[in-house]
Amino acid sequence: MIDIVTLGTGGPVPTKDRCLSSIVFKFEAETFLLDCGENTQQNIQKYYNHFFIDNIIISHRHLDHFGGLYGYLSTMSLWGRTKKLNIYLPKNFKDFHQNLESNNIKLKYSVNIICYDESTILKFEKFVISFFKREHSILTYGTSIKILEKYKMDPEKLKKIKNKQLISKLQKGIAVIEEDKILYPINFALEYLKEFYIIYSSDGLLMPESFFKEKKIAVLLHEGTYPSREVSLAKEHKHTAISEINKLSKLVNKIFIIHIGPKVLKYKEKLQENVSFSEDGLHIIIDNAGNTIINSKV
Ligand SMILES: [Zn+2]
Ligand SMILES: [Zn+2]
Repeated sequence: MIDIVTLGTGGPVPTKDRCLSSIVFKFEAETFLLDCGENTQQNIQKYYNHFFIDNIIISHRHLDHFGGLYGYLSTMSLWGRTKKLNIYLPKNFKDFHQNLESNNIKLKYSVNIICYDESTILKFEKFVISFFKREHSILTYGTSIKILEKYKMDPEKLKKIKNKQLISKLQKGIAVIEEDKILYPINFALEYLKEFYIIYSSDGLLMPESFFKEKKIAVLLHEGTYPSREVSLAKEHKHTAISEINKLSKLVNKIFIIHIGPKVLKYKEKLQENVSFSEDGLHIIIDNAGNTIINSKV
């Protein structure tokens, strides 16, 4: 099960009900914080039960996406964090360590800074993270999380196979033939993980349709800074309007709108069936086949 929590869904300014950009992505032992806007540390306490997150990815150097970072780092230190923390930053954020020093922030744990770009690939056992450039007013990246197809075989079921050499093929997800019968890996699996993507688009213009067509996207977290009636203004400021997000509904399984501009909520926006406004604290749970099974505020 994958747990995504949209901690902060407002942008570029907070409102009474919406804090600034921040999302938790958790898959088994690995947890990432995607952006860390103001109030992130309060919202982790409100909506997520583990305060210490081991990996932080900042999409770009606009304050509504990293304004909560120094406070969060400092609180973790005060609360006794000792484990190393990984922070992934775009290349124009190289002075991060100097900023810690100049603000007199002394941490009791080490921080591993990794400057990333579109060639960076982070590999984990069950997923791969990569980055794609967004067209925004400054250097900005979206995050792509590819869940890898994986079979965990059931040893009991495998006992039925007479030719033991076929087992390794099944484990790789390849169907085999034994005694004129086709044996499918899924029938011997204890656990099966399907390949799909989770995309966090961060700030910027709508990506071209080809970007979405190329992959099976289970969940797209997309910015919606401007109302539908302000498409040209959105483009001028290198952001996205709600009507443009609706256009993606046929290409993606489920879309959650984040970075919701204060003006958006003043109008009654018509959303496609699989498109919805996220809210602070919403848990999006995705099963191993890429289905969104629960969207509940905890
Ligand atoms: Zn923003
Ligand atoms: Zn921005």
